[in-house]
Amino acid sequence: MSTTTLHLEHRFADALPELAVDWQAEAAPGPMLLALDEQLATELGLDPAWLRSGEGLRLLTGEHPPVGSRPVAQGYAGHQFGGYSPRLGDGRALLLGELTDREGRLRDLHLKGSGRTPWSRGGDGLAVVGPMLREHLVSAAMHALGVPTTRSLGVVATGRAVQREQPLPGAVLARVAASHLRVGTLQYAAALDHQQPGTDLVRRVVEHAAARHHPQVLEADVPALALLEEVTRVQAELVASWMSVGFVHGVMNTDNVTLSGETIDYGPCAFLDGFDSAAVFSSIDTGGRYAFGQQPAITQWNLARMAETLLALLAEQAGVDQDGAVERCVGVLETFPTLYGEAYAARVAAKLGLPPGLDPQLRTGLVGDLLALLQGARADHTGFFRDLARELRAVGGDQGTPARDRVLDLPAYDDWAARWRALGPDPDAMDAVNPAYVPRNHLLQAALDAADAGDLAPFERMLEVVTHPFTERPEWAEYALPDPAG
Ligand code: AMP
Ligand code: MG
Ligand code: MG
Repeated sequence: MSTTTLHLEHRFADALPELAVDWQAEAAPGPMLLALDEQLATELGLDPAWLRSGEGLRLLTGEHPPVGSRPVAQGYAGHQFGGYSPRLGDGRALLLGELTDREGRLRDLHLKGSGRTPWSRGGDGLAVVGPMLREHLVSAAMHALGVPTTRSLGVVATGRAVQREQPLPGAVLARVAASHLRVGTLQYAAALDHQQPGTDLVRRVVEHAAARHHPQVLEADVPALALLEEVTRVQAELVASWMSVGFVHGVMNTDNVTLSGETIDYGPCAFLDGFDSAAVFSSIDTGGRYAFGQQPAITQWNLARMAETLLALLAEQAGVDQDGAVERCVGVLETFPTLYGEAYAARVAAKLGLPPGLDPQLRTGLVGDLLALLQGARADHTGFFRDLARELRAVGGDQGTPARDRVLDLPAYDDWAARWRALGPDPDAMDAVNPAYVPRNHLLQAALDAADAGDLAPFERMLEVVTHPFTERPEWAEYALPDPAG
């Protein structure tokens, strides 16, 4: 394997040249590999040993892209914290190209922290070690938890100092995604179509997204509407999976909402310790716009921004006027609460060890009452469900009541638990879907601080734990505990 034999396609750049600026990564003076996902490399048909070589590192930093590839900085727009930015784009990233993995799926190989681009505005185009290792670890944990996500192939320290509040070691992350098409891509396309009628860019983005992620859309009578339906469906599933593991994304701007339904952009994200709908971890989210409990409603809001970009095309494809197009979109957007509610309740029912096909009314009551108990006690989200299985196995014995001990309203808990137990929950099924280990923020921060000081051991140990989230081991006990200072 070498950069002369590795073949990267450039379908995005070919199909959507208005959204692609040919660009090159900045050279890294002293590349050093900090993390490599060997399993992912193998999935992609890349040889991990080669990736570790000098030539492999020059691929991972973008310094030496494969022969015949065409790296581009992608353009997109987006609503950030509710305000519209017409020009965002890859300000510190590059799409190296697309490759076909061992299962025949086309995947993007993308770099983050690869230097300034025409989209950089005031930014330096760079990334630093801590946040890139954070993305590597949290995305690996999400994948292990079964949450659709972009992945990190690896992180390379560049050997360049990056000026933040103080100088910090620079790094590049190689990201692998089903694609980097986002709601913001459509927003940019719609703005360009508006400025230059005849560009037909929204239609081409719809076709490109459909071909990559939702092929049935290409057969639909009204492809624009069918794409909205598909993205609504995958985003409802995605946010339900976040909610079921207690994940707070933190920056749900429309440029961070993929059309594929994968989680993207691990910035100020975190997992809950105590259950709290109002939990916020981003210092800039002062209004709590992206708080834990807001995430489903924000997803629906973001889908509405997507729908707006499709109105003109949809009207043309459906042969209706603007009002008719709006009506069709609203019809799809209105399905979101049901799609989300169903997806979330099904996940919580599985967390409770209950079979699918439970009476929906019974299930809704059980889930709602449990959430009220967890919220009331700020019970540890991850620990509670593992302890609930423990408590179930211990019924009648003297092993204690570890789940009950986590809540405050004991009469309400006893009533709830009696109703739940009467349904015959299976504790083994619970342990198969309820993680014992998620990346707890205080431990992750300590591991990143150690990495900054040159010690990767805590990071590597934590990565091992969170990529085996369902396997409890006595020596990993500290990773199951919430922040003692929290
Ligand atoms: P994000 O909040 O990570 O989704 O990024 C929002 C926008 O800011 C994107 O267009 C990024 O490319 C851009 N951006 C973030 N950090 C930098 C940086 N250090 N230099 C240039 N652009 C950046
Ligand atoms: Mg982003
Ligand atoms: Mg970011």
